[in-house]
Amino acid sequence: MSYKQTSNTSSNPILEITSEITSEITSEITSEITSEIVPETRTESTELSILLDQNRKFNRDINTKHKEIRTLKDTISDNQKKIWNLCEHDWEKEPAQMNEHTTYTCKICHLYKNYYMYR
Ligand SMILES: [Zn+2]
Repeated sequence: MSYKQTSNTSSNPILEITSEITSEITSEITSEITSEIVPETRTESTELSILLDQNRKFNRDINTKHKEIRTLKDTISDNQKKIWNLCEHDWEKEPAQMNEHTTYTCKICHLYKNYYMYR
């Protein structure tokens, strides 16, 4: 009697079902264990200090990013002053807004036709 080995072992239905069941059971057990352990080990004060630390860090990040934005805006403003002098503007009438005077913008550099904004 000779044992004929199948070439494709993953097509064994019993093996597949077994592995599915195993992984289901494992995840169930894991979630049970996690939900039991977490409230016990992580006390309220620990959670509080974690949240406070997080928010302190986030606020520092916000401040850093605000500074970055201010620097970028300053750089844009400096560039606009140079652009104002370099561009051979081609002015275009802006669609008039209600109760506002007519404005012009340059088709090339998109600045407003208002020297006082870029001096
Ligand atoms: Zn221009």
